[in-house]
Amino acid sequence: MQLIDGNRIASDIIAELTATVAALPGRKPCLALVRVGEDPASVSYVKKKETTAATIGVTSRIILPPVTITQAGLEKLIDELNADPAVDGILVQSPLPKHLDELAIFRRVAPRKDVDGFNTINLGKVAQEDDTGFVACTPAGIMELLSRSGVDLKGKHVVVLGRSLIVGKPVALLALQKRAGANGTVTICHSGTHDLPAITRLADVLIAAIGRAEFVTADMVKPGAVVIDVGINRVPDATKKTGYRLTGDVHFPTVAPLCAQITPVPGGVGPMTVAMLMKNTVKARILSAAM
Ligand code: NDP
Repeated sequence: MQLIDGNRIASDIIAELTATVAALPGRKPCLALVRVGEDPASVSYVKKKETTAATIGVTSRIILPPVTITQAGLEKLIDELNADPAVDGILVQSPLPKHLDELAIFRRVAPRKDVDGFNTINLGKVAQEDDTGFVACTPAGIMELLSRSGVDLKGKHVVVLGRSLIVGKPVALLALQKRAGANGTVTICHSGTHDLPAITRLADVLIAAIGRAEFVTADMVKPGAVVIDVGINRVPDATKKTGYRLTGDVHFPTVAPLCAQITPVPGGVGPMTVAMLMKNTVKARILSAAM
């Protein structure tokens, strides 16, 4: 079994981006990070994005509207960022408080600044295999992990567990694309799928993104499969100072020995998501400079 080291691959990408940004003429790329409220996971994700941006030479602008902000207030803020020529990319940290319509906010971000890739236009471009848009960061990170680990999906059966707009659907579309490295035969499973283990056992490449701690067990995996564990789940653990530990959607101790390659949690997909956000931000700057 070979471990797919997301930390190492992400740091390679960050080094590549640092060199690209250093060579860019004029203003450095600028990423607006909008975080509403104090959800502890969101606080740490935004902090990580801010520090990674600083490493690369990307300017970040942190915007912290009060948790009481209205839908109209947040939409006005997005409109201002859309119109601001000094801002290249906009990220609205998910999840938003329950009183806000998250999908409407994702749609409000101008497609050319939508470095999270959640706008309707950018999701549509993934379906159309149009490279001029932005691919959502976690699915893009998964594809990058696979290609940099020597996994070619051509002719492989790729089973995606989960159909969210953030991970499951876009990664399934990417794996399906008719291009080098992709070209997989893709099955998408969800909570309505019958006899899930019978389907997951057919997977040459299994991508688990359901948000259920250690759900994928050894009996669900074909020996020799490549397993990508997207899940980030907090499990109570009295031995930890924080009172919890992070675990994926895959039961790593029993599944890993079966696999050809597998991502750990943490240290697999997670670091790639941030790296791909930076890649999209640099792309947004290059595109805006060309306009
Ligand atoms: P969502 O909750 O939006 O979607 C979960 C999907 O899994 C749904 O399609 C749901 O089916 C399906 N599902 C849930 N339970 C089952 C089940 N028992 N059997 C089969 N399918 C099931 O989650 P996300 O896609 O946003 O995230 C998934 C996981 O990935 C989470 O742990 C999240 O924290 C993590 N994540 C990690 C990221 C990273 O950077 N590493 C980034 C984003 C997410 P249905 O549609 O029928 O409800």
